[in-house]
Amino acid sequence: MHLKHMRPYQLRRATADNWPLLVPAGCVETHGPHMAIGHDTIIVEEICERIAARVDAVIAPSFDYGPTGYCLGGPADGTIDPDYTAFGDYVKSILRNLLEMKFRRVFVVIMHQGMEAPLALTFKKAAAELSSETALERFPRGWWGVEKLMKEAGDDTDLGRIHVHPMILPAASPPAGGDHAGYNETSFLMATRPELVEQDRLGDDAPWYCRQQEEKNSWTANVAHGEEMVDAVVDAWVAMLEGGK
Ligand SMILES: [Zn+2]
Repeated sequence: MHLKHMRPYQLRRATADNWPLLVPAGCVETHGPHMAIGHDTIIVEEICERIAARVDAVIAPSFDYGPTGYCLGGPADGTIDPDYTAFGDYVKSILRNLLEMKFRRVFVVIMHQGMEAPLALTFKKAAAELSSETALERFPRGWWGVEKLMKEAGDDTDLGRIHVHPMILPAASPPAGGDHAGYNETSFLMATRPELVEQDRLGDDAPWYCRQQEEKNSWTANVAHGEEMVDAVVDAWVAMLEGGK
């Protein structure tokens, strides 16, 4: 169920029943001559749809404009890089609101660069800061040093409620793997949004990252590999969510 589509009674029911909230996070960045520039967010959205088809979950509106560092060009190439301070403040304010909506299991799903890169770190930093700030809204300073309050907080604050994970959880890899617009990402998009891939746009002048491997590259990317990765990724998420994490 999409947060944007919910009526208030549905929202209250979802939070009362402790449904997880999935938060897609990605970027707008050029992905070779053959792929949609929004791939990283789009594939997370597609995965979230498939997770929510199997377990009770709410999908939040996406964070589309994540940091890219202009590694793959600038706006004229299809790449956007936000002001990082502004992006960080925005992320934190929205995450705070999602906690105030009373979601207790918030999962930010990252499919761009690594977990130590600016996008993931922005969410991790905001989550860490919100943990202590929201505790102080309910408990006095020194609360963690008082055993009774510490235990109460363990069950009843926003501490640890926001989890930041890569879309490809370790249990899904292999078969799923990362690259940039190569064999894996092209296959992911072919399996989920085939209308957004045009392999015949790949010419001899395609960037190096399209041919990172001799045999597994943007040209040989295929639906079967994409579907195998999607299934593995979704299975891993369903297993984690059903495990109550
Ligand atoms: Zn990508």
